Amino acid sequence: MTQHISIIGYPLRHSISPIFQQAALDYYGLDVEYEAWETNPLQLSAAIGELRYPRNLGANVTIPFKEEVLPMLDDLDEVADEVGAVNTIVKREDLLLGYNTDVAGFLRALRNEGKFQPAGRAAVILGAGGAARAVCYGLLAEGASRLTLVNRSVENAEELAEALKDLVGKKGLHAEVNVLPQDVPGVEGALAECELVVNCTSLGMKHGGQEKRSPLRAEQIPRHVLVYDLVYNPTETPLLKAAAVAGARTLGGLPMLVYQGAAAFELWTGREAPLQVMFEAAGAALD
Ligand code: NAP
Repeated sequence: MTQHISIIGYPLRHSISPIFQQAALDYYGLDVEYEAWETNPLQLSAAIGELRYPRNLGANVTIPFKEEVLPMLDDLDEVADEVGAVNTIVKREDLLLGYNTDVAGFLRALRNEGKFQPAGRAAVILGAGGAARAVCYGLLAEGASRLTLVNRSVENAEELAEALKDLVGKKGLHAEVNVLPQDVPGVEGALAECELVVNCTSLGMKHGGQEKRSPLRAEQIPRHVLVYDLVYNPTETPLLKAAAVAGARTLGGLPMLVYQGAAAFELWTGREAPLQVMFEAAGAALD
């Protein structure tokens, strides 16, 4: 019987996960099909119920369901539980288990491609949505000393900061978490004092209607920082172009996308993810 893995989200038209995950499954000759299940919010619980059928091995979960899916699962791993978001579901026996591989994907790209170790270092995080939550969790878990959250809606950043402060207290970490509204003079000060800037907003993303926009101008970016843009399409985003003009080091979102997918692949199949195959398929799939 052909088995199935799906990606559940809305919209899914531009997702490249089906392409690089299928390439990895085909590399091992597995009789598994990776399918896009475009799911509206009213269909979510039925889609999760369908994962319990014998033909399914699990799923990826993406915008806008990474948080909503939590109560529909039987158990969560520690990272997914603490982040409060699931991007990977694995079926074991009859149980649906939730994982968050975004954190591991973000950190692996930061270390491998970004050559950056977060311990004891300060970062400015642009955005306060689901991706920012995973990024902040990863940086704090790795010992970052200070996070400054800069977001369009200050109340969303404050809500995230409160959750992060709880985490810092619970885990006995030594880290400071601050919030700044965007476009205030204090942002320049925070940028000057940090070593890492991570864009977790959707500004610059192709097909999102904000393709030409950058969250920072070149003159705001200090040349000593690493600028990491989670946006992966295009590979050279407006922010990364501005960072290059400023003379700063840059890292795009494609390695994180592939690494989070690789971690999910290993959970579903128990096999080592064929990274080169996945990187080549993902790179070729960008339009
Ligand atoms: P999300 O939960 O919808 O959050 C979107 C964030 O962008 C919020 O902070 C929002 O601010 C901000 N934003 C949206 N439009 C804006 C605008 N016009 N001006 C200023 N800020 C704006 O989305 P997400 O899941 O966190 O994803 C964010 C980005 O990360 C997306 O582009 C996604 O593709 C990318 N991502 C990449 C990877 C990867 O593997 N490379 C993984 C996950 C996500 P408000 O709070 O004010 O609304």
